Amino acid sequence: MDEEKKTADMEAIVSLCKRRGFVFQSSEIYGGVGGSWDYGPFGVELKRNIKSIWWRDMVQHRDDIVGLDAGILMHPQVWEASGHVEGFTDPLVDCRSCKKRFRADHVKDGRCPECGGELTEPRMFNLMLKTFLGPVEDDAATTYLRPETAQGIFVNFANVLDVSRKKLPFGIAQIGKAFRNEITPRNFTFRTREFEQMEIEYFVKPGTDEEWHERWVTDRFEWYVRYGMRREFLRLRQHEGDELAHYAKATYDIEYLFPFGWAELEGISNRTDFDLRQHAVFSGRELSCFDEDTGTHVVPYIIEPSGGVDRAALGFLVDAYHEEKVRKRKRVVLRFHPELAPIKVAVFPLLRNRPELVALAKDLAAELRPHMMTMYDDTASIGRLYRRQDEVGTPFCITVDVESLEDNAVTIRERDSMEQIRVPIPEVRQTLVKKLGGA
Ligand code: ATP
Repeated sequence: MDEEKKTADMEAIVSLCKRRGFVFQSSEIYGGVGGSWDYGPFGVELKRNIKSIWWRDMVQHRDDIVGLDAGILMHPQVWEASGHVEGFTDPLVDCRSCKKRFRADHVKDGRCPECGGELTEPRMFNLMLKTFLGPVEDDAATTYLRPETAQGIFVNFANVLDVSRKKLPFGIAQIGKAFRNEITPRNFTFRTREFEQMEIEYFVKPGTDEEWHERWVTDRFEWYVRYGMRREFLRLRQHEGDELAHYAKATYDIEYLFPFGWAELEGISNRTDFDLRQHAVFSGRELSCFDEDTGTHVVPYIIEPSGGVDRAALGFLVDAYHEEKVRKRKRVVLRFHPELAPIKVAVFPLLRNRPELVALAKDLAAELRPHMMTMYDDTASIGRLYRRQDEVGTPFCITVDVESLEDNAVTIRERDSMEQIRVPIPEVRQTLVKKLGGA
Protein backbone atom coordinates (compact mmCIF):
# COMPACT_ATOMS: atom_id res chain seq x y z
CA MET A 1 0.00 0.00 0.00
CA ASP A 2 1.12 3.55 -0.72
CA GLU A 3 1.90 4.56 2.85
CA GLU A 4 2.57 8.19 2.07
CA LYS A 5 -0.97 8.58 0.71
CA LYS A 6 -2.63 6.95 3.69
CA THR A 7 -4.31 9.72 5.65
CA ALA A 8 -7.24 8.57 7.69
CA ASP A 9 -6.96 5.75 10.12
CA MET A 10 -9.82 3.27 9.93
CA GLU A 11 -10.28 3.14 13.70
CA ALA A 12 -10.65 6.92 13.82
CA ILE A 13 -13.31 6.75 11.09
CA VAL A 14 -15.27 3.95 12.77
CA SER A 15 -15.14 5.72 16.10
CA LEU A 16 -16.27 9.06 14.61
CA CYS A 17 -19.11 7.29 12.78
CA LYS A 18 -20.41 5.81 16.00
CA ARG A 19 -19.76 8.85 18.20
CA ARG A 20 -21.43 11.32 15.89
CA GLY A 21 -24.21 9.14 14.56
CA PHE A 22 -23.15 8.25 11.03
CA VAL A 23 -23.14 4.46 11.42
CA PHE A 24 -24.18 2.07 14.19
CA GLN A 25 -23.67 -1.65 14.40
CA SER A 26 -26.87 -3.47 13.47
CA SER A 27 -28.82 -4.87 16.44
CA GLU A 28 -26.15 -3.53 18.77
CA ILE A 29 -28.20 -4.08 21.95
CA TYR A 30 -28.21 -7.80 21.09
CA GLY A 31 -24.48 -7.92 20.56
CA GLY A 32 -24.55 -6.97 16.88
CA VAL A 33 -24.86 -9.03 13.73
CA GLY A 34 -22.17 -9.57 11.11
CA GLY A 35 -22.30 -7.77 7.79
CA SER A 36 -25.12 -5.34 8.48
CA TRP A 37 -24.93 -1.71 9.62
CA ASP A 38 -27.43 0.98 10.50
CA TYR A 39 -27.03 4.57 9.36
CA GLY A 40 -27.75 7.17 12.05
CA PRO A 41 -29.06 10.73 11.63
CA PHE A 42 -25.94 12.05 9.85
CA GLY A 43 -25.18 8.87 7.90
CA VAL A 44 -28.64 8.70 6.44
CA GLU A 45 -28.33 12.29 5.19
CA LEU A 46 -24.95 11.55 3.63
CA LYS A 47 -26.35 8.50 1.85
CA ARG A 48 -29.44 10.36 0.68
CA ASN A 49 -27.24 13.13 -0.70
CA ILE A 50 -25.10 10.63 -2.61
CA LYS A 51 -28.17 8.93 -4.06
CA SER A 52 -29.84 12.15 -5.01
CA ILE A 53 -26.83 13.66 -6.79
CA TRP A 54 -26.31 10.37 -8.62
CA TRP A 55 -29.97 10.28 -9.65
CA ARG A 56 -29.92 13.92 -10.67
CA ASP A 57 -26.70 13.56 -12.71
CA MET A 58 -27.45 10.16 -14.24
CA VAL A 59 -31.21 10.40 -14.82
CA GLN A 60 -32.80 13.80 -14.40
CA HIS A 61 -30.16 15.83 -16.21
CA ARG A 62 -29.87 13.42 -19.12
CA ASP A 63 -32.14 12.80 -22.03
CA ASP A 64 -30.99 9.23 -22.65
CA ILE A 65 -31.58 7.55 -19.26
CA VAL A 66 -34.83 6.79 -17.43
CA GLY A 67 -35.35 5.41 -13.95
CA LEU A 68 -36.83 2.24 -12.49
CA ASP A 69 -37.60 0.86 -9.04
CA ALA A 70 -38.02 -2.91 -9.31
CA GLY A 71 -38.86 -5.35 -6.51
CA ILE A 72 -36.22 -7.07 -4.42
CA LEU A 73 -38.10 -10.37 -4.73
CA MET A 74 -38.28 -11.74 -8.24
CA HIS A 75 -39.34 -14.88 -10.06
CA PRO A 76 -36.89 -17.69 -9.16
CA GLN A 77 -36.21 -18.34 -12.84
CA VAL A 78 -34.58 -14.92 -13.11
CA TRP A 79 -31.66 -16.26 -11.12
CA GLU A 80 -31.33 -19.34 -13.29
CA ALA A 81 -31.38 -17.28 -16.47
CA SER A 82 -28.89 -14.79 -15.04
CA GLY A 83 -26.44 -17.55 -14.14
CA HIS A 84 -26.46 -16.71 -10.45
CA VAL A 85 -27.83 -20.07 -9.24
CA GLU A 86 -25.05 -21.83 -11.08
CA GLY A 87 -22.21 -19.39 -10.94
CA PHE A 88 -22.54 -16.78 -8.19
CA THR A 89 -20.17 -18.56 -5.90
CA ASP A 90 -17.03 -17.86 -3.95
CA PRO A 91 -14.53 -20.50 -2.88
CA LEU A 92 -14.39 -20.75 0.90
CA VAL A 93 -12.00 -22.41 3.31
CA ASP A 94 -12.46 -23.24 7.00
CA CYS A 95 -9.78 -23.15 9.65
CA ARG A 96 -9.45 -26.54 11.31
CA SER A 97 -8.33 -24.93 14.59
CA CYS A 98 -10.40 -21.79 15.21
CA LYS A 99 -13.25 -22.80 12.86
CA LYS A 100 -13.33 -19.37 11.22
CA ARG A 101 -14.29 -19.18 7.57
CA PHE A 102 -12.52 -17.18 4.85
CA ARG A 103 -12.72 -16.56 1.12
CA ALA A 104 -9.96 -18.68 -0.39
CA ASP A 105 -8.81 -15.74 -2.53
CA HIS A 106 -8.41 -13.59 0.60
CA VAL A 107 -5.97 -16.01 2.22
CA LYS A 108 -2.35 -15.33 1.36
CA ASP A 109 -0.11 -18.22 2.43
CA GLY A 110 -2.52 -21.14 2.80
CA ARG A 111 -2.74 -20.71 6.62
CA CYS A 112 -5.55 -19.23 8.72
CA PRO A 113 -5.15 -15.41 8.77
CA GLU A 114 -6.42 -15.31 12.39
CA CYS A 115 -4.60 -18.11 14.16
CA GLY A 116 -2.23 -19.56 11.56
CA GLY A 117 -4.07 -22.90 11.69
CA GLU A 118 -4.47 -25.39 8.87
CA LEU A 119 -7.23 -24.73 6.32
CA THR A 120 -9.67 -27.10 4.59
CA GLU A 121 -9.75 -27.50 0.80
CA PRO A 122 -11.82 -24.72 -0.86
CA ARG A 123 -15.52 -25.44 -1.33
CA MET A 124 -17.86 -23.42 -3.53
CA PHE A 125 -20.45 -21.37 -1.66
CA ASN A 126 -23.41 -19.60 -3.28
CA LEU A 127 -23.65 -15.99 -2.18
CA MET A 128 -27.38 -15.55 -2.72
CA LEU A 129 -29.62 -15.30 0.34
CA LYS A 130 -32.40 -17.81 0.00
CA THR A 131 -35.97 -17.22 1.06
CA PHE A 132 -39.46 -18.66 0.47
CA LEU A 133 -42.44 -17.02 -1.18
CA GLY A 134 -45.67 -17.92 0.60
CA PRO A 135 -46.29 -20.26 3.51
CA VAL A 136 -44.80 -23.48 2.12
CA GLU A 137 -41.06 -23.83 2.49
CA ASP A 138 -40.31 -26.17 -0.40
CA ASP A 139 -38.21 -26.02 -3.56
CA ALA A 140 -41.05 -24.64 -5.65
CA ALA A 141 -41.39 -21.66 -3.29
CA THR A 142 -37.67 -20.93 -3.08
CA THR A 143 -36.36 -17.66 -4.36
CA TYR A 144 -33.56 -15.27 -3.48
CA LEU A 145 -33.09 -11.74 -2.24
CA ARG A 146 -31.60 -10.05 -5.29
CA PRO A 147 -27.79 -10.02 -5.26
CA GLU A 148 -27.76 -7.13 -7.76
CA THR A 149 -30.38 -4.66 -8.91
CA ALA A 150 -29.45 -5.20 -12.56
CA GLN A 151 -31.79 -8.13 -13.21
CA GLY A 152 -34.84 -6.01 -12.36
CA ILE A 153 -33.79 -3.77 -15.23
CA PHE A 154 -33.23 -6.57 -17.74
CA VAL A 155 -36.61 -8.19 -17.13
CA ASN A 156 -38.29 -4.78 -17.56
CA PHE A 157 -36.37 -3.94 -20.72
CA ALA A 158 -39.37 -4.39 -23.05
CA ASN A 159 -41.76 -2.57 -20.68
CA VAL A 160 -39.51 0.46 -20.41
CA LEU A 161 -38.72 0.50 -24.12
CA ASP A 162 -42.47 0.48 -24.91
CA VAL A 163 -43.34 3.37 -22.64
CA SER A 164 -40.25 5.54 -23.05
CA ARG A 165 -39.93 5.11 -26.85
CA LYS A 166 -36.18 5.49 -26.51
CA LYS A 167 -33.82 4.63 -29.32
CA LEU A 168 -30.36 3.12 -28.90
CA PRO A 169 -28.25 4.15 -27.14
CA PHE A 170 -30.30 4.61 -23.97
CA GLY A 171 -30.13 3.56 -20.36
CA ILE A 172 -32.22 2.49 -17.40
CA ALA A 173 -31.04 3.44 -13.91
CA GLN A 174 -31.97 2.08 -10.54
CA ILE A 175 -30.96 2.50 -6.89
CA GLY A 176 -31.86 -0.20 -4.41
CA LYS A 177 -30.90 -2.79 -1.86
CA ALA A 178 -28.99 -5.92 -2.80
CA PHE A 179 -28.00 -8.85 -0.62
CA ARG A 180 -25.04 -11.19 -0.68
CA ASN A 181 -24.22 -13.78 1.93
CA GLU A 182 -20.58 -12.67 2.02
CA ILE A 183 -18.37 -15.25 3.68
CA THR A 184 -16.23 -12.68 5.39
CA PRO A 185 -17.97 -9.30 5.70
CA ARG A 186 -15.29 -6.84 6.75
CA ASN A 187 -13.73 -3.43 6.65
CA PHE A 188 -16.70 -1.74 8.29
CA THR A 189 -19.37 -0.86 5.72
CA PHE A 190 -17.14 -1.79 2.79
CA ARG A 191 -18.20 -5.44 2.53
CA THR A 192 -21.60 -6.16 3.99
CA ARG A 193 -24.38 -8.67 3.46
CA GLU A 194 -26.98 -6.02 2.80
CA PHE A 195 -26.04 -2.96 0.78
CA GLU A 196 -27.36 -0.48 -1.74
CA GLN A 197 -26.39 -0.32 -5.37
CA MET A 198 -26.67 2.48 -7.92
CA GLU A 199 -26.75 0.83 -11.32
CA ILE A 200 -27.19 1.89 -14.91
CA GLU A 201 -27.76 -0.57 -17.71
CA TYR A 202 -26.86 1.33 -20.85
CA PHE A 203 -28.09 -0.33 -24.05
CA VAL A 204 -26.00 0.25 -27.18
CA LYS A 205 -25.71 -1.06 -30.71
CA PRO A 206 -23.39 -4.05 -30.95
CA GLY A 207 -20.12 -2.81 -32.38
CA THR A 208 -20.33 0.49 -30.52
CA ASP A 209 -19.99 -1.21 -27.12
CA GLU A 210 -16.26 -0.75 -26.65
CA GLU A 211 -16.43 2.96 -27.37
CA TRP A 212 -19.35 3.39 -24.93
CA HIS A 213 -17.55 1.33 -22.33
CA GLU A 214 -14.60 3.72 -22.44
CA ARG A 215 -16.88 6.75 -22.21
CA TRP A 216 -18.67 5.39 -19.16
CA VAL A 217 -15.44 4.47 -17.41
CA THR A 218 -14.20 8.07 -17.81
CA ASP A 219 -17.55 9.64 -16.88
CA ARG A 220 -17.94 7.61 -13.73
CA PHE A 221 -14.33 8.16 -12.64
CA GLU A 222 -14.76 11.93 -13.03
CA TRP A 223 -18.01 11.83 -11.04
CA TYR A 224 -16.15 10.78 -7.90
CA VAL A 225 -13.57 13.51 -8.46
CA ARG A 226 -16.29 16.12 -9.02
CA TYR A 227 -17.75 15.45 -5.59
CA GLY A 228 -14.49 15.73 -3.78
CA MET A 229 -12.46 12.52 -3.91
CA ARG A 230 -8.81 13.31 -4.49
CA ARG A 231 -7.75 12.15 -7.93
CA GLU A 232 -4.55 10.57 -6.61
CA PHE A 233 -6.63 8.39 -4.30
CA LEU A 234 -8.54 6.94 -7.25
CA ARG A 235 -7.37 4.52 -9.90
CA LEU A 236 -8.75 2.26 -12.61
CA ARG A 237 -8.05 -1.44 -12.67
CA GLN A 238 -9.00 -3.78 -15.46
CA HIS A 239 -10.21 -7.30 -14.62
CA GLU A 240 -8.05 -10.02 -16.03
CA GLY A 241 -8.82 -13.55 -17.20
CA ASP A 242 -10.62 -15.61 -14.58
CA GLU A 243 -11.54 -12.54 -12.53
CA LEU A 244 -14.06 -11.56 -15.22
CA ALA A 245 -17.68 -12.36 -14.33
CA HIS A 246 -19.43 -15.02 -16.40
CA TYR A 247 -21.37 -12.39 -18.37
CA ALA A 248 -18.61 -9.87 -19.00
CA LYS A 249 -16.45 -9.15 -22.03
CA ALA A 250 -14.43 -6.54 -20.14
CA THR A 251 -14.64 -4.87 -16.73
CA TYR A 252 -12.91 -1.90 -15.15
CA ASP A 253 -13.05 -1.22 -11.44
CA ILE A 254 -12.81 2.28 -10.06
CA GLU A 255 -10.76 1.79 -6.92
CA TYR A 256 -10.18 4.10 -3.97
CA LEU A 257 -7.20 4.01 -1.67
CA PHE A 258 -8.97 3.14 1.60
CA PRO A 259 -6.98 2.89 4.85
CA PHE A 260 -7.03 -0.90 4.26
CA GLY A 261 -5.65 -0.58 0.72
CA TRP A 262 -6.94 -0.10 -2.83
CA ALA A 263 -10.48 -1.45 -3.13
CA GLU A 264 -13.42 -1.28 -5.52
CA LEU A 265 -15.93 1.54 -5.39
CA GLU A 266 -17.64 0.79 -8.66
CA GLY A 267 -17.35 -1.72 -11.49
CA ILE A 268 -18.06 -0.83 -15.11
CA SER A 269 -18.70 -3.91 -17.21
CA ASN A 270 -19.38 -4.65 -20.82
CA ARG A 271 -22.07 -7.32 -20.25
CA THR A 272 -22.52 -7.89 -24.01
CA ASP A 273 -25.95 -9.21 -25.03
CA PHE A 274 -25.67 -12.07 -22.52
CA ASP A 275 -28.45 -11.02 -20.15
CA LEU A 276 -31.10 -10.10 -22.71
CA ARG A 277 -30.43 -13.28 -24.68
CA GLN A 278 -30.62 -15.44 -21.54
CA HIS A 279 -33.91 -13.87 -20.44
CA ALA A 280 -35.32 -14.21 -23.96
CA VAL A 281 -34.55 -17.95 -23.88
CA PHE A 282 -35.88 -18.55 -20.36
CA SER A 283 -39.00 -16.37 -20.68
CA GLY A 284 -39.83 -17.05 -24.32
CA ARG A 285 -40.21 -13.27 -24.90
CA GLU A 286 -38.39 -11.36 -27.56
CA LEU A 287 -36.01 -8.87 -25.99
CA SER A 288 -34.63 -6.76 -28.79
CA CYS A 289 -35.17 -3.38 -30.38
CA PHE A 290 -35.67 -2.09 -33.88
CA ASP A 291 -32.67 -0.48 -35.49
CA GLU A 292 -33.89 2.09 -38.02
CA ASP A 293 -30.48 2.33 -39.71
CA THR A 294 -30.44 -1.31 -40.76
CA GLY A 295 -34.18 -2.03 -40.67
CA THR A 296 -33.57 -5.07 -38.45
CA HIS A 297 -34.10 -6.07 -34.86
CA VAL A 298 -30.96 -6.11 -32.75
CA VAL A 299 -30.22 -7.41 -29.28
CA PRO A 300 -28.38 -4.49 -27.69
CA TYR A 301 -25.09 -4.78 -25.89
CA ILE A 302 -25.08 -3.50 -22.34
CA ILE A 303 -22.58 -1.29 -20.57
CA GLU A 304 -23.12 -1.40 -16.82
CA PRO A 305 -21.74 1.17 -14.39
CA SER A 306 -22.51 -0.46 -11.03
CA GLY A 307 -21.57 1.34 -7.83
CA GLY A 308 -22.27 0.78 -4.17
CA VAL A 309 -23.91 3.59 -2.19
CA ASP A 310 -22.29 2.36 1.02
CA ARG A 311 -18.84 2.15 -0.53
CA ALA A 312 -19.22 5.61 -2.03
CA ALA A 313 -20.31 6.92 1.40
CA LEU A 314 -17.30 5.29 3.06
CA GLY A 315 -14.95 6.62 0.38
CA PHE A 316 -16.29 10.16 0.64
CA LEU A 317 -16.04 9.95 4.44
CA VAL A 318 -12.48 8.67 4.43
CA ASP A 319 -11.46 11.27 1.86
CA ALA A 320 -13.12 14.09 3.79
CA TYR A 321 -11.55 13.12 7.14
CA HIS A 322 -8.76 15.42 8.30
CA GLU A 323 -7.02 15.91 11.58
CA GLU A 324 -5.16 19.15 12.09
CA LYS A 325 -3.66 21.28 14.84
CA VAL A 326 -5.40 24.56 15.54
CA ARG A 327 -3.94 26.64 18.35
CA LYS A 328 -2.16 23.54 19.64
CA ARG A 329 -5.40 21.55 19.80
CA LYS A 330 -6.47 18.72 17.54
CA ARG A 331 -9.27 19.62 15.14
CA VAL A 332 -11.12 16.81 13.38
CA VAL A 333 -12.90 18.05 10.29
CA LEU A 334 -14.82 16.35 7.51
CA ARG A 335 -14.18 18.41 4.40
CA PHE A 336 -17.25 17.19 2.52
CA HIS A 337 -18.27 18.69 -0.78
CA PRO A 338 -21.19 21.02 0.13
CA GLU A 339 -23.66 18.82 -1.74
CA LEU A 340 -22.67 15.81 0.35
CA ALA A 341 -22.57 17.50 3.75
CA PRO A 342 -25.39 16.14 5.94
CA ILE A 343 -26.01 19.57 7.50
CA LYS A 344 -25.40 22.69 5.43
CA VAL A 345 -25.59 25.28 8.20
CA ALA A 346 -25.74 25.33 11.99
CA VAL A 347 -27.02 28.32 13.96
CA PHE A 348 -25.95 29.09 17.55
CA PRO A 349 -26.65 31.84 20.06
CA LEU A 350 -23.39 32.99 21.66
CA LEU A 351 -25.05 32.98 25.08
CA ARG A 352 -27.78 30.51 25.71
CA ASN A 353 -29.01 32.30 28.84
CA ARG A 354 -29.98 35.40 26.84
CA PRO A 355 -33.54 34.79 25.59
CA GLU A 356 -33.30 37.52 22.91
CA LEU A 357 -30.25 35.83 21.37
CA VAL A 358 -31.88 32.40 21.54
CA ALA A 359 -35.03 33.76 19.88
CA LEU A 360 -33.08 35.50 17.12
CA ALA A 361 -31.00 32.39 16.44
CA LYS A 362 -34.07 30.14 16.40
CA ASP A 363 -35.89 32.51 14.05
CA LEU A 364 -32.93 32.56 11.67
CA ALA A 365 -32.68 28.75 11.73
CA ALA A 366 -36.41 28.49 10.99
CA GLU A 367 -36.04 30.86 8.06
CA LEU A 368 -33.17 28.86 6.58
CA ARG A 369 -34.61 25.39 7.22
CA PRO A 370 -36.94 25.15 4.18
CA HIS A 371 -34.02 26.03 1.90
CA MET A 372 -31.15 23.94 3.25
CA MET A 373 -30.55 21.33 5.94
CA THR A 374 -30.24 23.52 9.05
CA MET A 375 -29.47 22.71 12.66
CA TYR A 376 -29.98 24.85 15.76
CA ASP A 377 -27.77 24.07 18.76
CA ASP A 378 -27.21 25.76 22.10
CA THR A 379 -26.15 22.81 24.22
CA ALA A 380 -22.49 23.76 24.68
CA SER A 381 -20.00 26.60 24.52
CA ILE A 382 -19.39 28.14 21.12
CA GLY A 383 -15.95 26.52 20.70
CA ARG A 384 -17.38 23.10 21.34
CA LEU A 385 -20.33 23.72 19.02
CA TYR A 386 -17.92 24.62 16.19
CA ARG A 387 -15.91 21.46 16.81
CA ARG A 388 -19.03 19.30 16.74
CA GLN A 389 -20.07 20.75 13.40
CA ASP A 390 -16.52 20.36 12.00
CA GLU A 391 -16.67 16.69 12.90
CA VAL A 392 -19.82 16.12 10.86
CA GLY A 393 -18.64 18.30 7.98
CA THR A 394 -21.07 21.24 8.21
CA PRO A 395 -19.77 23.88 5.77
CA PHE A 396 -21.14 26.92 7.64
CA CYS A 397 -21.83 27.93 11.23
CA ILE A 398 -23.67 31.09 12.17
CA THR A 399 -23.28 32.77 15.53
CA VAL A 400 -25.80 35.24 16.86
CA ASP A 401 -24.09 37.49 19.41
CA VAL A 402 -25.00 40.46 21.55
CA GLU A 403 -24.06 42.85 18.77
CA SER A 404 -26.57 41.15 16.50
CA LEU A 405 -29.29 42.77 18.57
CA GLU A 406 -27.85 46.16 17.59
CA ASP A 407 -26.65 45.71 14.01
CA ASN A 408 -29.05 42.94 12.87
CA ALA A 409 -26.05 41.03 11.50
CA VAL A 410 -24.46 37.68 12.34
CA THR A 411 -21.11 35.97 11.97
CA ILE A 412 -20.77 33.22 9.38
CA ARG A 413 -17.80 30.93 9.91
CA GLU A 414 -16.52 28.77 7.08
CA ARG A 415 -15.55 25.20 7.97
CA ASP A 416 -12.29 24.73 6.05
CA SER A 417 -10.64 28.14 6.35
CA MET A 418 -12.37 28.96 9.67
CA GLU A 419 -12.69 32.49 8.30
CA GLN A 420 -15.49 34.58 9.71
CA ILE A 421 -17.52 37.22 7.95
CA ARG A 422 -20.21 39.53 9.26
CA VAL A 423 -23.44 39.43 7.22
CA PRO A 424 -26.71 41.34 7.69
CA ILE A 425 -29.47 38.88 8.67
CA PRO A 426 -31.66 39.67 5.63
CA GLU A 427 -28.74 38.66 3.36
CA VAL A 428 -27.77 35.43 5.14
CA ARG A 429 -29.88 33.07 3.09
CA GLN A 430 -28.73 34.37 -0.29
CA THR A 431 -25.11 34.46 0.86
CA LEU A 432 -25.26 30.83 1.93
CA VAL A 433 -27.09 29.65 -1.17
CA LYS A 434 -24.36 31.27 -3.29
CA LYS A 435 -21.53 29.81 -1.21
CA LEU A 436 -23.11 26.36 -1.31
CA GLY A 437 -22.97 26.50 -5.09
CA GLY A 438 -26.62 27.32 -5.76
CA ALA A 439 -28.13 30.07 -7.94
P1 ATP B 1 -16.11 -7.39 -4.64
O1 ATP B 1 -15.10 -7.85 -5.65
O2 ATP B 1 -15.60 -6.29 -3.75
O3 ATP B 1 -16.81 -8.49 -3.92
P2 ATP B 1 -17.90 -7.27 -6.82
O4 ATP B 1 -16.96 -7.09 -7.95
O5 ATP B 1 -18.50 -8.59 -6.53
O6 ATP B 1 -17.27 -6.67 -5.48
P3 ATP B 1 -20.04 -6.09 -8.21
O7 ATP B 1 -20.76 -7.34 -8.41
O8 ATP B 1 -19.30 -5.46 -9.35
O9 ATP B 1 -19.06 -6.21 -6.96
O10 ATP B 1 -21.06 -5.03 -7.57
C1 ATP B 1 -21.11 -3.69 -7.95
C2 ATP B 1 -20.89 -2.77 -6.77
O11 ATP B 1 -21.74 -3.10 -5.68
C3 ATP B 1 -19.48 -2.84 -6.20
O12 ATP B 1 -18.61 -2.02 -6.91
C4 ATP B 1 -19.69 -2.33 -4.80
O13 ATP B 1 -19.67 -0.92 -4.76
C5 ATP B 1 -21.08 -2.83 -4.47
N1 ATP B 1 -20.97 -4.05 -3.65
C6 ATP B 1 -20.83 -5.32 -4.09
N2 ATP B 1 -20.75 -6.18 -3.07
C7 ATP B 1 -20.84 -5.43 -1.94
C8 ATP B 1 -20.82 -5.74 -0.56
N3 ATP B 1 -20.74 -6.99 -0.12
N4 ATP B 1 -20.93 -4.72 0.33
C9 ATP B 1 -21.04 -3.44 -0.08
N5 ATP B 1 -21.07 -3.09 -1.38
C10 ATP B 1 -20.97 -4.07 -2.30
